[in-house]
Amino acid sequence: MAEIRQNPTTKDWVIIASERTKRPDDFKEPPSHSHLHEYRPDCPFCPGNEKLTPKAILVFPGNMAQGCQSEWSIRVVENKFPALLPQGTVERKRMGRFHLKMNGCGRHEVIIESPKHNATIGTLSDPEVEMILRAWRSRFLELGQDERIRLITLFRNHGLKAGTSLEHPHSQIVATPVLSSLIRQRMEEATRHLDTYGTCLFCDLLREEKKLQERVVLESEHFLAFVPYAPQATYETWVIPKTHKPSFGLIDDTEVIDLARNLNQILGIMYRRLNDPDYNLTLNTPPVREARQECCHWHIRILPRMSYLSGFELGSGIYITTTYPEEAAQFLRAAN
Ligand SMILES: [Zn+2]
Ligand SMILES: [Zn+2]
Repeated sequence: MAEIRQNPTTKDWVIIASERTKRPDDFKEPPSHSHLHEYRPDCPFCPGNEKLTPKAILVFPGNMAQGCQSEWSIRVVENKFPALLPQGTVERKRMGRFHLKMNGCGRHEVIIESPKHNATIGTLSDPEVEMILRAWRSRFLELGQDERIRLITLFRNHGLKAGTSLEHPHSQIVATPVLSSLIRQRMEEATRHLDTYGTCLFCDLLREEKKLQERVVLESEHFLAFVPYAPQATYETWVIPKTHKPSFGLIDDTEVIDLARNLNQILGIMYRRLNDPDYNLTLNTPPVREARQECCHWHIRILPRMSYLSGFELGSGIYITTTYPEEAAQFLRAAN
């Protein structure tokens, strides 16, 4: 029997149609990245091809003594084909009675996460993932200084179904002068929850998941990972700090170490046990200079892309998943 559940953070409904499920045991082929080599001569992100990318904004040196084959371990560059450019003002202009527009001003950067072409979070070492998180934090804080920027979106597209064609491990950061209705909706729900119950919606969610345990994937000193009650994607997993921290920019060094270990573990399980699924990873953090600190609580969402979105999802905004979150969590927990 299918079930319809509501996501408390957006009030959106999802359908869980478990009859359509592809059982985890069906994922028997080797991970899809396992055929790749450590270096690909025509890859713009591989060491030696640095001239194929715009000039680096941030470089973490490679530690040759520790076996790193490159002079760098992480490079952050402007996107060669940016969606937005840093120059210009962000005044809104009115076109006709109610259409508004502004310059395509913002930032679009790529974090090249490793010199190794065939690496990915889940197969890297924990210290290598820590470096990625440090690069994320550094760019996040820097871009937040720009007064024109309203929203910083950090994400990782892994695989074709997740919207990337580049195999080399990378994440992206896009800073925009505008918000979307999705962000406004999330903020409104969190504000309403605070107004009603006097508490942070995400702190309450954490407490509930910890109490029930049935959707928990893992718990560490600073983070809880769980499959949400009403996921948008099969095996969707959230990783959230256990203490109330509004913005990702507030993550401290001990949390970076802990989060790196958790992400590497969860994505490693997905890599090995779910046959390296395509996925999107998104960092959910409030708009820049958001005043409602009491109801913002940053977290990471990992959304495996086992299938393509269909017209139903696009037309209705209602997502269908095929595995009960409790079963998905049990599977990921057992593989831990
Ligand atoms: Zn490469
Ligand atoms: Zn909170």
